[in-house]
Amino acid sequence: MTAATHSSSFSAAADPADAVLLGLDPEQREVATTLRGPVCVLAGAGTGKTRAITHRIAYGVRTGQLMPASVLAVTFTNRAAGEMRGRLRSLGAEGVQARTFHSAALRQLQYFWPRAVGGEVPRLLERKIQFVAEAGARCRIRLDRGELRDVTGEIEWAKVTQTVPADYPAAALKAGREAPRDMAEIAQIYGTYEQLKRDRGMIDFEDVLLLTVGILQDRHDIAEQIRAQYQHFVVDEYQDVSPLQQRLLDLWLGERDSLCVVGDASQTIYSFTGATPDHLLNFRTRYPQATVVKLVRDYRSTPQVVHLANGLLNQAKGRAAEHRLELVSQREGGPDPVYAEYADEPAEAEGVARRISDLIAAGVPAGEIAVLFRINAQSEVYEQALADAGVPYQLRGAERFFERQEVHKAILALRGTARSSGNDPLLEDLVGLGSQVRAVLSSIGWTTEPPAGSGAVRDQWESVAALVRLAEDFARSRPGATLADLVAELDERRAAQHAPTVQGVTLASLHAAKGLEWDAVFLVGLTDGMLPITYAKTDDQVEEERRLLYVGVTRARLHLTLSWALSRAPGGRASRRPSRFLNGLRPGSAAPSRPGAAGERVTRPRRRRGPALCRVCGRTLTEAGELKLMRCEDCPSDMDAGLYERLREWRAAQADRQGLPAYCVFTDKTLTAIAEASPAEAGELSMISGVGTRKFDRYGADVLAICAGQEPGGEDSDDA
Ligand code: ATP
Ligand code: MG
Repeated sequence: MTAATHSSSFSAAADPADAVLLGLDPEQREVATTLRGPVCVLAGAGTGKTRAITHRIAYGVRTGQLMPASVLAVTFTNRAAGEMRGRLRSLGAEGVQARTFHSAALRQLQYFWPRAVGGEVPRLLERKIQFVAEAGARCRIRLDRGELRDVTGEIEWAKVTQTVPADYPAAALKAGREAPRDMAEIAQIYGTYEQLKRDRGMIDFEDVLLLTVGILQDRHDIAEQIRAQYQHFVVDEYQDVSPLQQRLLDLWLGERDSLCVVGDASQTIYSFTGATPDHLLNFRTRYPQATVVKLVRDYRSTPQVVHLANGLLNQAKGRAAEHRLELVSQREGGPDPVYAEYADEPAEAEGVARRISDLIAAGVPAGEIAVLFRINAQSEVYEQALADAGVPYQLRGAERFFERQEVHKAILALRGTARSSGNDPLLEDLVGLGSQVRAVLSSIGWTTEPPAGSGAVRDQWESVAALVRLAEDFARSRPGATLADLVAELDERRAAQHAPTVQGVTLASLHAAKGLEWDAVFLVGLTDGMLPITYAKTDDQVEEERRLLYVGVTRARLHLTLSWALSRAPGGRASRRPSRFLNGLRPGSAAPSRPGAAGERVTRPRRRRGPALCRVCGRTLTEAGELKLMRCEDCPSDMDAGLYERLREWRAAQADRQGLPAYCVFTDKTLTAIAEASPAEAGELSMISGVGTRKFDRYGADVLAICAGQEPGGEDSDDA
């Protein structure tokens, strides 16, 4: 039961404001009720920091001590801000601004631009990644999806550290950064990117903070106006505040001290952008009168997960570690964390996908499962493996939801229909808002069934599907709502960047996972070299990597799996070792996993040994997609087009019979690989990546028959 529930059985309910305090422990309650002066909450992961500050705001509003419009709550991500607004609303504290530093600054910048600078407000560049891709193309540098995201990250780092393009290579080298591409190339892309932006009268996210700080510093009248509006500030994840963000916060505050910060120094993971936990740890020095509260009860994770988290912290060193707090789980016992070693990365991804399928079969919703990795480039092999296993997934930290073109287009269509059909509640009564939305979206080409394949088309389909689910949830929570109401809700969410949850397994980097929680978490690729990442050289850098693992572990409520692969590609040398951070924590010397260790019957021959080489040009293959095809993406395909077509037809029929999307049978890439290899016998087929044991058992006979030019006999092959 949430604290907001009104219940006459509680004496506190006599004063409805106190109802907000019911779901809090004594320390959390102290946070919630200390509404005056500076407050600092120092606490470990999952101890309810975010919950405590949300309830604090609600309590202040409900007791009339805080005017909703005078409070600015700052959280780390737009999703967190959206969730906080939702929670505040349900606690009866509507109208409080909950934003990221960026979105709060952007709003102020847009509002005051005409007065402070004059002329047209520069437009915010919403699709940075696309601009970076465009800049790359202009420089004739081809970047794959992972590289594109990592190069974008490098540009962001350069900007927050105020490094101009020409200085990037030297600065990056000095900071010990391992760039995803040649540093001179990145500098070139970065310079072109800045130029493109200027030419088109646009600013990016990093520019927003810089410009807002500039205006607040120079224009006292504007600073005063903002201070008159916002009088109380709450900051979540304060350990990762950057100097620029702190500067902005100071400018907002002026001489006042109505500030409540919460954080966990052990979760500092953004030092690479210049952030530092010093602001959190020195809060008392700066505000000697501050109330400091510590929380130690972990409400999120089982004792088994908490035990591992504490073990990790015990090995931590450095300033943040001196302030560590031993977590105490408040939950019932659960399963022990699972440690899994694999021969190579595709095998690891396949193993993880299999375990995920098992969890889903056991009733864990896909949306309650996450796969977390160190760098974005690791995601592709998991995207493939999950698609092969027929498991829906969403990428976090990818392009922001409301900025995707397909979402834009869908909302435009809904708005058009809402306008032309007027607000006819009768119509909605008859048809239902959900069906109405589906009809409008079908008219612009959206299908109720997902398209085949796992690429961009599939991503787009998932975004629109998320919009449909949002509409359905909205209709359920607001009976009688019209299409126009829905459009208004979407506009509000867009302004607030509150994306709907896509129902699928989350794939995210450890950095993007902060503050979040799932029932089941898979921490993958845990080798020395990936975590800590090779370019973490100094002690401080290695400690930050350890904290990243701590953040990862503490995202899990119940199931936690930690895995690594001994070599990258199938047949590669088993030269890797599990992360040194797990030494002394993982039981004994972990026995190498055997195929079929998960209790599976192994009937397929083992993969071929030796490095995987392109069968056309002989280059060593490393990318997941290329490994699947056994050739470079650029090398000419020797596919038998007729065979490919026959396989597609068969796949469509299989999918139809089982009521599954086609990509659950085989992805396009796997089908291409089969058509190219045209396997003549079982051994050959089983070696094609994407043909796992289950699929081999289920479809092998059919596929071999089709390849041999025969009719598949698989009437009942789906339950073979
Ligand atoms: P992180 O450091 O990861 O940001 P946090 O300290 O902000 O974690 P929350 O996200 O606020 O922790 O809380 C973790 C989980 O524990 C949430 O699911 C929250 O609802 C639950 N929780 C927190 N406090 C309580 C409580 N007093 N009673 C029951 N559940 C609680
Ligand atoms: Mg939190």
